Amino acid sequence: MRAKIDIAENLISTKETLPAGTILVAVTKTRGIPEITEAYATGHRIFGENKVQEMVGKYEAMPKDICWHMIGHLQRNKVKYIAGFVSLIHGVDSLRLLQEINKQGIKHQRQIPCLLQVHIAEEQTKFGLDHESLIALLQSEELSKLNNITIKGLMGMATYTKDQNQVRKEFAFLKSVFDQAKNYVHNIDVLSMGMSADYRVAIEEGSTMVRIGSGIFGERKQV
Ligand SMILES: *Cc1c(COP(=O)(O)O)cnc(C)c1O
Repeated sequence: MRAKIDIAENLISTKETLPAGTILVAVTKTRGIPEITEAYATGHRIFGENKVQEMVGKYEAMPKDICWHMIGHLQRNKVKYIAGFVSLIHGVDSLRLLQEINKQGIKHQRQIPCLLQVHIAEEQTKFGLDHESLIALLQSEELSKLNNITIKGLMGMATYTKDQNQVRKEFAFLKSVFDQAKNYVHNIDVLSMGMSADYRVAIEEGSTMVRIGSGIFGERKQV
Protein backbone atom coordinates (compact mmCIF):
# COMPACT_ATOMS: atom_id res chain seq x y z
CA MET A 1 0.00 0.00 0.00
CA ARG A 2 2.78 2.40 0.92
CA ALA A 3 4.45 2.07 -2.47
CA LYS A 4 1.22 2.98 -4.19
CA ILE A 5 0.80 6.05 -2.03
CA ASP A 6 4.31 7.19 -2.90
CA ILE A 7 3.47 7.02 -6.56
CA ALA A 8 0.25 8.90 -5.92
CA GLU A 9 2.10 11.60 -4.03
CA ASN A 10 4.62 11.84 -6.79
CA LEU A 11 2.25 12.09 -9.71
CA ILE A 12 -0.67 13.81 -8.04
CA SER A 13 0.98 16.31 -5.71
CA THR A 14 4.06 17.32 -7.58
CA LYS A 15 2.88 16.43 -11.08
CA GLU A 16 6.57 16.51 -11.84
CA THR A 17 6.28 14.32 -14.89
CA LEU A 18 3.56 16.48 -16.40
CA PRO A 19 4.26 19.76 -18.16
CA ALA A 20 2.53 22.84 -16.77
CA GLY A 21 -0.96 23.14 -18.15
CA THR A 22 -1.50 19.43 -18.66
CA ILE A 23 -4.60 18.38 -16.77
CA LEU A 24 -4.41 15.14 -14.82
CA VAL A 25 -7.55 13.06 -14.47
CA ALA A 26 -6.97 10.52 -11.69
CA VAL A 27 -8.86 7.43 -12.79
CA THR A 28 -10.55 5.87 -9.76
CA LYS A 29 -12.33 2.94 -11.41
CA THR A 30 -12.28 -0.17 -9.20
CA ARG A 31 -10.84 1.90 -6.31
CA GLY A 32 -12.60 2.24 -2.99
CA ILE A 33 -13.43 5.36 -1.03
CA PRO A 34 -10.32 5.09 1.23
CA GLU A 35 -7.96 5.18 -1.74
CA ILE A 36 -9.83 8.05 -3.36
CA THR A 37 -9.83 9.90 -0.05
CA GLU A 38 -6.03 9.59 0.11
CA ALA A 39 -5.71 11.07 -3.34
CA TYR A 40 -8.17 13.81 -2.37
CA ALA A 41 -6.05 14.60 0.69
CA THR A 42 -3.09 15.46 -1.58
CA GLY A 43 -5.23 18.28 -2.98
CA HIS A 44 -6.27 16.61 -6.20
CA ARG A 45 -9.83 17.35 -7.35
CA ILE A 46 -10.25 15.82 -10.81
CA PHE A 47 -11.31 12.19 -10.89
CA GLY A 48 -12.47 9.91 -13.67
CA GLU A 49 -14.82 6.92 -13.68
CA ASN A 50 -15.93 4.68 -16.51
CA LYS A 51 -19.14 3.32 -14.99
CA VAL A 52 -22.21 5.37 -14.16
CA GLN A 53 -23.25 3.55 -10.99
CA GLU A 54 -19.72 3.68 -9.59
CA MET A 55 -19.46 7.37 -10.30
CA VAL A 56 -22.79 8.18 -8.70
CA GLY A 57 -21.86 6.24 -5.55
CA LYS A 58 -18.48 7.93 -5.27
CA TYR A 59 -19.94 11.35 -6.01
CA GLU A 60 -22.36 10.85 -3.13
CA ALA A 61 -19.70 9.57 -0.75
CA MET A 62 -17.00 12.16 -1.47
CA PRO A 63 -16.78 15.96 -0.91
CA LYS A 64 -18.65 18.00 -3.47
CA ASP A 65 -15.73 20.09 -4.73
CA ILE A 66 -14.54 17.16 -6.85
CA CYS A 67 -14.82 17.42 -10.63
CA TRP A 68 -16.08 14.06 -11.87
CA HIS A 69 -15.22 13.06 -15.43
CA MET A 70 -17.07 10.26 -17.20
CA ILE A 71 -14.36 8.55 -19.23
CA GLY A 72 -16.12 5.33 -20.26
CA HIS A 73 -18.69 4.58 -22.89
CA LEU A 74 -21.96 6.15 -21.81
CA GLN A 75 -25.34 4.61 -22.61
CA ARG A 76 -28.12 7.02 -23.41
CA ASN A 77 -30.47 5.65 -20.78
CA LYS A 78 -27.89 6.37 -18.07
CA VAL A 79 -27.11 10.00 -18.87
CA LYS A 80 -29.83 11.13 -16.47
CA TYR A 81 -28.01 9.74 -13.44
CA ILE A 82 -24.92 11.92 -13.91
CA ALA A 83 -26.32 14.94 -15.77
CA GLY A 84 -26.73 17.03 -12.63
CA PHE A 85 -23.10 16.94 -11.54
CA VAL A 86 -20.72 15.58 -14.19
CA SER A 87 -17.90 18.01 -15.10
CA LEU A 88 -16.87 16.50 -18.42
CA ILE A 89 -18.08 13.55 -20.51
CA HIS A 90 -15.12 12.20 -22.51
CA GLY A 91 -16.48 9.43 -24.69
CA VAL A 92 -19.30 10.94 -26.73
CA ASP A 93 -19.45 9.34 -30.15
CA SER A 94 -22.89 9.92 -31.63
CA LEU A 95 -25.39 12.67 -32.30
CA ARG A 96 -28.10 10.65 -30.54
CA LEU A 97 -26.04 10.56 -27.34
CA LEU A 98 -25.35 14.29 -27.63
CA GLN A 99 -29.08 14.91 -28.03
CA GLU A 100 -29.81 12.94 -24.87
CA ILE A 101 -27.10 14.79 -22.94
CA ASN A 102 -28.59 18.06 -24.21
CA LYS A 103 -32.06 16.99 -23.08
CA GLN A 104 -30.76 16.22 -19.60
CA GLY A 105 -28.84 19.50 -19.61
CA ILE A 106 -32.11 21.34 -20.21
CA LYS A 107 -33.73 19.46 -17.33
CA HIS A 108 -30.89 20.37 -14.99
CA GLN A 109 -30.63 23.91 -16.38
CA ARG A 110 -26.96 23.61 -17.19
CA GLN A 111 -24.59 23.20 -20.10
CA ILE A 112 -22.86 19.86 -19.99
CA PRO A 113 -19.25 19.85 -21.26
CA CYS A 114 -18.44 17.01 -23.67
CA LEU A 115 -15.50 15.61 -25.61
CA LEU A 116 -16.09 13.77 -28.86
CA GLN A 117 -14.32 10.44 -28.99
CA VAL A 118 -12.40 9.70 -32.17
CA HIS A 119 -11.49 6.18 -33.18
CA ILE A 120 -7.73 6.11 -33.69
CA ALA A 121 -6.74 2.58 -32.66
CA GLU A 122 -6.38 -0.48 -34.86
CA GLU A 123 -8.64 -2.53 -32.62
CA GLN A 124 -12.21 -2.84 -33.83
CA THR A 125 -13.60 -2.94 -30.30
CA LYS A 126 -12.83 0.59 -29.23
CA PHE A 127 -15.60 3.15 -29.50
CA GLY A 128 -15.38 6.42 -31.34
CA LEU A 129 -16.20 8.35 -34.47
CA ASP A 130 -14.07 7.99 -37.55
CA HIS A 131 -12.52 11.13 -38.98
CA GLU A 132 -15.19 11.72 -41.64
CA SER A 133 -18.13 11.21 -39.30
CA LEU A 134 -16.55 13.58 -36.81
CA ILE A 135 -16.21 16.37 -39.36
CA ALA A 136 -19.75 15.72 -40.61
CA LEU A 137 -21.06 15.93 -37.06
CA LEU A 138 -19.16 19.14 -36.34
CA GLN A 139 -20.67 20.71 -39.45
CA SER A 140 -24.19 19.46 -38.88
CA GLU A 141 -27.12 21.73 -38.27
CA GLU A 142 -28.40 19.32 -35.62
CA LEU A 143 -25.34 19.95 -33.49
CA SER A 144 -25.77 23.70 -33.67
CA LYS A 145 -29.26 23.31 -32.19
CA LEU A 146 -27.98 21.76 -28.97
CA ASN A 147 -27.67 24.68 -26.58
CA ASN A 148 -27.22 22.70 -23.36
CA ILE A 149 -24.01 20.94 -24.30
CA THR A 150 -20.59 22.42 -25.01
CA ILE A 151 -18.04 20.63 -27.14
CA LYS A 152 -14.76 21.20 -25.30
CA GLY A 153 -12.53 19.01 -27.44
CA LEU A 154 -11.62 15.49 -28.47
CA MET A 155 -10.67 12.25 -26.78
CA GLY A 156 -8.99 9.14 -28.11
CA MET A 157 -7.37 5.87 -27.09
CA ALA A 158 -4.37 4.44 -28.90
CA THR A 159 -3.93 0.79 -29.78
CA TYR A 160 -2.90 -1.36 -26.82
CA THR A 161 0.57 -2.30 -28.02
CA LYS A 162 4.21 -2.08 -26.99
CA ASP A 163 4.98 -0.52 -30.38
CA GLN A 164 5.59 3.10 -29.38
CA ASN A 165 5.80 4.22 -33.00
CA GLN A 166 2.32 2.93 -33.65
CA VAL A 167 1.01 4.71 -30.55
CA ARG A 168 2.81 7.92 -31.51
CA LYS A 169 1.39 7.82 -35.03
CA GLU A 170 -2.14 7.45 -33.68
CA PHE A 171 -1.78 10.32 -31.20
CA ALA A 172 -0.23 12.53 -33.89
CA PHE A 173 -3.20 11.76 -36.11
CA LEU A 174 -5.63 12.70 -33.35
CA LYS A 175 -3.76 15.96 -32.79
CA SER A 176 -4.12 16.81 -36.48
CA VAL A 177 -7.86 16.05 -36.31
CA PHE A 178 -8.07 18.25 -33.18
CA ASP A 179 -6.41 21.16 -35.00
CA GLN A 180 -8.83 20.68 -37.88
CA ALA A 181 -11.83 20.53 -35.53
CA LYS A 182 -10.93 23.99 -34.24
CA ASN A 183 -12.09 25.36 -37.60
CA TYR A 184 -15.61 24.16 -36.88
CA VAL A 185 -16.09 24.69 -33.15
CA HIS A 186 -15.06 27.80 -31.27
CA ASN A 187 -13.04 27.58 -28.10
CA ILE A 188 -12.22 23.91 -28.13
CA ASP A 189 -9.06 23.41 -26.15
CA VAL A 190 -9.11 19.94 -24.59
CA LEU A 191 -7.30 17.02 -26.19
CA SER A 192 -7.76 14.05 -23.88
CA MET A 193 -5.23 11.38 -24.78
CA GLY A 194 -2.80 9.28 -22.80
CA MET A 195 -3.10 6.67 -20.03
CA SER A 196 -0.53 5.16 -17.67
CA ALA A 197 1.27 3.23 -20.39
CA ASP A 198 1.40 5.96 -23.02
CA TYR A 199 0.88 9.37 -21.44
CA ARG A 200 4.42 10.55 -22.09
CA VAL A 201 4.11 9.90 -25.81
CA ALA A 202 0.65 11.48 -25.74
CA ILE A 203 2.02 14.67 -24.17
CA GLU A 204 4.82 14.85 -26.70
CA GLU A 205 2.18 14.65 -29.41
CA GLY A 206 0.07 17.46 -27.99
CA SER A 207 -2.20 16.05 -25.29
CA THR A 208 -3.65 18.58 -22.86
CA MET A 209 -5.37 16.06 -20.57
CA VAL A 210 -4.17 12.63 -19.44
CA ARG A 211 -6.27 9.95 -17.77
CA ILE A 212 -4.17 7.92 -15.35
CA GLY A 213 -5.29 5.09 -13.08
CA SER A 214 -2.73 2.38 -12.40
CA GLY A 215 0.16 4.88 -12.58
CA ILE A 216 -1.30 6.52 -9.47
CA PHE A 217 -3.09 3.79 -7.56
CA GLY A 218 -1.17 0.67 -8.65
CA GLU A 219 -2.25 -2.21 -10.84
CA ARG A 220 -5.94 -3.02 -11.00
CA LYS A 221 -7.14 -6.46 -9.92
CA GLN A 222 -10.25 -6.31 -12.07
CA VAL A 223 -11.10 -4.15 -15.07
C1 LIG B 1 -9.05 2.74 -17.19
C2 LIG B 1 -8.98 3.88 -18.13
C3 LIG B 1 -7.90 4.77 -18.08
C4 LIG B 1 -6.73 4.63 -17.12
O1 LIG B 1 -6.01 3.47 -17.40
P1 LIG B 1 -4.61 3.18 -16.67
O2 LIG B 1 -3.92 2.27 -17.60
O3 LIG B 1 -4.96 2.53 -15.38
O4 LIG B 1 -3.93 4.46 -16.49
C5 LIG B 1 -7.91 5.84 -18.96
N1 LIG B 1 -8.90 6.03 -19.83
C6 LIG B 1 -9.96 5.20 -19.91
C7 LIG B 1 -11.03 5.47 -20.91
C8 LIG B 1 -10.03 4.10 -19.06
O5 LIG B 1 -11.08 3.27 -19.14
